[in-house]
Amino acid sequence: MRHPVVMGNWKLNGSKEMVSDLLKGLNAELEGVEGVDVAVAPPALYIDLAEREIAAGGNKIILGAQNTDLNNSGAFTGDMSPAMLKDFGASHIIIGHSERREYHAESDEFVAKKFAFLKENGLTPVLCIGESEAQNEAGETEAVCARQIDAVINTQGVEALEGAIIAYEPIWAIGTGKAATAEDAQRIHASIRAHIAAKSEEVANKVVIQYGGSVKPENAEAYFAQPDIDGALVGGAALDAKSFAAIAKAAATAKKA
Ligand code: PEP
Repeated sequence: MRHPVVMGNWKLNGSKEMVSDLLKGLNAELEGVEGVDVAVAPPALYIDLAEREIAAGGNKIILGAQNTDLNNSGAFTGDMSPAMLKDFGASHIIIGHSERREYHAESDEFVAKKFAFLKENGLTPVLCIGESEAQNEAGETEAVCARQIDAVINTQGVEALEGAIIAYEPIWAIGTGKAATAEDAQRIHASIRAHIAAKSEEVANKVVIQYGGSVKPENAEAYFAQPDIDGALVGGAALDAKSFAAIAKAAATAKKA
């Protein structure tokens, strides 16, 4: 049985006040909630403050980050390493988000190297995959997702996916309010799992596959009712404690049932 994971990607949003208020709110909202792992990925500058707020709330929330470098130290101006992330208690690290693939020209191969380096450092990669609107309309969704996962499998073996998280995020659904239907998302999740199962059924059965793309409290339950949707990567709705906690609670309830 897979344990659901709901993660908030705060992107480039925050201030000291906002980080404190949001985490204080989440600490309160998540009191007594069991059966779901809840993680947040604040902007790098606020990870220190987030670690302290999460600790003050009894460490109910997993700390994450939105990126990593491929080195642990050295002459790499502007970068942030797995060792530094670990130093602040961050464990779940988003890689391959479509915004980084697009605005920073990150290739499948580059993302796969980040995946390997996170694993080497004992961190949990949250590997984002997903197709563009044009690829979706051309019927290429499954092939795009398979190619993005194969960049990891072909370089590190299918076992590398053990303990990692895959986030299926159709690019056209991110931040647009145009969410995939729960049925369509389930179909793609099942195809991703089948693709992994062709290499290892054991790994496929264990790997957590989140859906991401305009998940809100109003549509969350329908996603989590699907057998292959094991949680969510949430952008906009993660910036509000009540909304994000409602999504986490929906996952806990649905997966307990
Ligand atoms: C995201 O940025 O990963 C995301 C899914 O954003 P949103 O929930 O706002 O669509």
